[in-house]
Amino acid sequence: MALLEVRGLKTHFSTEDGTVRAVDGVSFHVDRGEVLGIVGESGSGKSVTSLSLLRLIPDPPGKIVGGEMLFESSPGKKEDLARATEARMQKVRGDRIAMIFQDPMTSLNPYLRVSEQLVEVLELHKKMARSEARKKAIEMLRAVGIPAPELRIDDHPHQLSGGMRQRVMIAMALLCEPDLLIADEPTTALDVTVQAQILELIQDRQKALGLGVILITHDLGVIAKMADRVAVMYAGRVVEEGPVDVIFDDPRHPYTIGLKSSIPRLDAGRGSSLVPIPGMPPSMARLPPGCPFHPRCGFAVARCKESYPEEREIPGPGGRHLVRCHVDDVTPAHAARAEAS
Ligand code: SF4
Repeated sequence: MALLEVRGLKTHFSTEDGTVRAVDGVSFHVDRGEVLGIVGESGSGKSVTSLSLLRLIPDPPGKIVGGEMLFESSPGKKEDLARATEARMQKVRGDRIAMIFQDPMTSLNPYLRVSEQLVEVLELHKKMARSEARKKAIEMLRAVGIPAPELRIDDHPHQLSGGMRQRVMIAMALLCEPDLLIADEPTTALDVTVQAQILELIQDRQKALGLGVILITHDLGVIAKMADRVAVMYAGRVVEEGPVDVIFDDPRHPYTIGLKSSIPRLDAGRGSSLVPIPGMPPSMARLPPGCPFHPRCGFAVARCKESYPEEREIPGPGGRHLVRCHVDDVTPAHAARAEAS
């Protein structure tokens, strides 16, 4: 049984320009001990998806208007988070599902010492006595690589570097031993060497604790390092999904092929250039008809302007591989030939 199964999730926003269908029928699942990467450009709906999972979408203007988010709240028992009460969600957040954000200051209070913030989480969720909570918080800071945690725990967030703040946020997320960790662009604000350290830390904790992880990023390179499976989002929907090796070796959606071609590679020869995806992501308030990728797609045929493609499975030995595209002979080789001609 999946730890979390999302089926047909729809989160819409009411705006002056009309209804923005930021997430419009997204389905995926994540198992215990698995890292699911969700990748897409900004505006693809990936962050709205992650906020929807924790019911953190401000209402109004946003609302979950359809779908289910089935979470295994105890062995063999599923509860639909889309319909859970706010009181229940307060228990689920932090306790069973934790989230880390791009900017640690979203989670950390700049006015409070780290100790106060971590101890408060344990007092609230685990009903621990203050001295026991402080001991556990120091242990957790040590586990995420904070040097001299018994001293640094009394720092304010501004006394820590960006990487250390991110480590504190990871410690805070893991304090209550959640089953699922959602990491939304956890390294985007950090420099490259610190990024690698934080990704290693998340991977290390994920393996040690057997966590399910949903890793949200615009960076397919991060997905390649971290994820077991990947869901590629475009214009509020998952357009391709499968095991990470399959998606990298044999992508079948033109958008995924475009994302892959735009990753810098160290083994690329001098003078070889990156191939950006042409055009811009569409406005979510005014999506083009049919497949919303058609204005940017080198494979588009007449049908692409008329109807949204159904999901279909690509047969293969590497695991379940799903794609939403009308054209069935899209392959990287085909794309390279089309580009060269
Ligand atoms: Fe391109 Fe058509 Fe496939 Fe959309 S459905 S990705 S426009 S080929």
